[in-house]
Amino acid sequence: MEKNNKPIIYLDNAASTKPSEEALNSFTFYSTNYFANPSAKHKIGLEEDHILDSFRQDILDTLKLKDHTVIFTSGATEANNLAIKGACLKYKNRGKHIITSKIEHPSVLEVFRTLERDYGYEVTYLDVDSSGAINLDDLKKSLRNDTIFVSLFAVNNEVGSVNPIEDIAKLLKEYPKIIFHVDAAQSIGKVDIDFTDVDMITISSHKIHGLKGSGALIKRKKIALTPILDGGGQEEGERSGTIDIAGAAALATSLKIAVKNSKENHDKVLPLAKYVTDFLAEHDSLYVLNSKYTEINPYIINFSLLTQKGSVIVEALSNEGIMVSTKSSCHAKSDEPSYVIEAMTGNTNLANDSIRISLSYENNIEEIEYFCKTLMEIVEKVHK
Ligand code: PMP
Repeated sequence: MEKNNKPIIYLDNAASTKPSEEALNSFTFYSTNYFANPSAKHKIGLEEDHILDSFRQDILDTLKLKDHTVIFTSGATEANNLAIKGACLKYKNRGKHIITSKIEHPSVLEVFRTLERDYGYEVTYLDVDSSGAINLDDLKKSLRNDTIFVSLFAVNNEVGSVNPIEDIAKLLKEYPKIIFHVDAAQSIGKVDIDFTDVDMITISSHKIHGLKGSGALIKRKKIALTPILDGGGQEEGERSGTIDIAGAAALATSLKIAVKNSKENHDKVLPLAKYVTDFLAEHDSLYVLNSKYTEINPYIINFSLLTQKGSVIVEALSNEGIMVSTKSSCHAKSDEPSYVIEAMTGNTNLANDSIRISLSYENNIEEIEYFCKTLMEIVEKVHK
């Protein structure tokens, strides 16, 4: 990628990744050869229906899941909405208490707020510790007789913190009335998590070098959902709309590659993350590191500027061809402080001036050295 003849250094992979050649090839192949409607009852439609089932099976095999099924969606936002609204509305007669954390992605948090505001649900928003993870005892204490649903991220999109999903799932297994949903959009191919005991899992294609507008909700077979999109009754009536076979192909392909290369990619990215965290630690009068999970998850490094405005530095870096964000891109256009850093640190200044860099296997050490050098030059220049 180039802009005004300057090479682009892309350090915003948590916002979106570059589609891989394999994802593009599978998308093109299925768009070209299987453009019929997979719900059609003619030969090609029936063939497409089988192909979609094979992609569902590929996804389940890749994640080693046996009791689940796959609903294709337009991305993680829709999958989160479908999981939370779909299950809470379906099982509302069992109870009206639901649980999430204070630092979820807006596509989770705002759904809880809607259920609280418009549908009379009672929500517990769990605190996080200074590393950005929830505490298992806090969760245990918040459980009630009328709790029906828990939704927690696997990896936080802003700081890269990792929740103890396997331990949470084990705990919640003892409460058969509670459905446990995990937004895994940022963990796939990065942090190895066994989702066997998780009831519903959200994934997104464009976070794993697939394509935008494509994702899935992976759901335990016995769970039913109230649809949030009414229409032709596709996906067993739980998600109407013509299924995007080419998007599903690219998603299944991207997922397979991401999981297969997970260890190799981690080993490639970890030294890059270490370079950045060492650099930040060497200049601790200027920067505070907010990400505490870089060994486990080296892909997201969030830090706050002690002497500068985050938005000014992000713009200056962008002018130098380096793409980073102040916080999550989904909220990046608002001037409000980061609610994630605020919840972790209780410090509004740190929350106002945070920067997130997010890496991929495509980045290299030269880019990272250049980023650190340029950041330093900009910070020193703006400081004068
Ligand atoms: N959840 C998380 C954790 C995310 O990082 C994102 C993307 N920023 C989403 C959900 C929404 O994903 P999509 O763009 O596929 O709707």
